[in-house]
Amino acid sequence: MAKDPLAWIETELAGLEDSALRRRRRIRQGPVGPVVVLDGRQVVNFGSNDYLGLATDERLKAAAAAALQEGWGAGASPLICGYSQWHQKLETRLADFEATEAALVFGSGFAANMGTLAALVAQGDVVYLDAKNHASLWDGARLSRADLRVYSHADWRELERLLDRAGRYRRRLIATDSLFSMDGDLAPLGELVELANRYEAMLLVDEAHATGVFGSAGRGVAEHLGVETKIPIRIGTLSKALGSVGGFVVGSRLLIDWLVQRARPYIFSTAPPAPMAAAAIAALEIVEQEPMRRHRLLESADYVRRELRRQGWPLGPSASQIIPVLVGRPELALEIAAALADRGLFVPPIRPPAVPENQACLRISLCASHTPSMLEALLEAFASLAKRFL
Ligand SMILES: *Cc1c(COP(=O)(O)O)cnc(C)c1O
Repeated sequence: MAKDPLAWIETELAGLEDSALRRRRRIRQGPVGPVVVLDGRQVVNFGSNDYLGLATDERLKAAAAAALQEGWGAGASPLICGYSQWHQKLETRLADFEATEAALVFGSGFAANMGTLAALVAQGDVVYLDAKNHASLWDGARLSRADLRVYSHADWRELERLLDRAGRYRRRLIATDSLFSMDGDLAPLGELVELANRYEAMLLVDEAHATGVFGSAGRGVAEHLGVETKIPIRIGTLSKALGSVGGFVVGSRLLIDWLVQRARPYIFSTAPPAPMAAAAIAALEIVEQEPMRRHRLLESADYVRRELRRQGWPLGPSASQIIPVLVGRPELALEIAAALADRGLFVPPIRPPAVPENQACLRISLCASHTPSMLEALLEAFASLAKRFL
């Protein structure tokens, strides 16, 4: 009998199992929220990106339900007949919220990054990437076939050297997360803006974890650091703090017009269902009208970081609602996660390839909907584990 051509997968999976790197999906019953049921067990949830608690907000549900009356599927890609008045209204609303000329909505943040990078650069160009950028920026950069230059995480001096040494390129693009999804720290956007100007490079900033959380109007880290008008290409997601699904790009009318012509995940993929746009519009309304959600979230984050550091846990440079507790070996991350689960707390263990070799962590994601007693339960659990693991 001929050998199964997929038999190699079994070997690969066994290898992952042996090094504690095999992933398993937990099944969630019921809605996402500060408390969830995972694999039949009710736990306090420190693993979602629903930072403002909007994913289950009645206003989002009502907006989506109203749009749903028109139907579900969009039926075609946006360039054929999938672009509805709901999508258009969301783009207008997003441009207004972000104080830019225009916006473009993709099916996901991943698609927005892939499509935008590959539309802006090609062979003969160069992309500069922070080593800890999100996978979608990496994949977009690779797909573009531009030359890639990687600078150490947040090291703008190294970026400066790379820019200085670069040969002749048609176009240069610097791409970075604004709030890094594994370390929870902020990119040095002021310095990157300065370098982009000096070396005539385009600057693309991905605000996926920061939209709705940072900045006085909730527009993200660029607003927080006072440089948003100096960043020509800003990307965000509707799927984290905004509680919906989809990704977006905001910038000049010129930029958006070009992406409509050239961003392949936009052109060759069916438009997302209109209710996602209706829900996102409702979410933007809430971000504008209820700033206390983001204030409470960032205050909780300051408190939890301070207390965990006092207990002696290494948190790296985190400065946000994303708080990685660094433990090193993936086995250890699994062990601590299991001990937390025994105490009714879900904190996801993060292992390679999401983080570098031997930099496994437990990633705490805080939400505005976590109550003070939930935060206390988390801190008490870490305090008791510190005796065993520190
Ligand atoms: C989550 C994330 C994305 C992808 O967004 P989705 O809408 O979930 O596809 C892109 N960039 C960063 C930095 C992210 O954290």
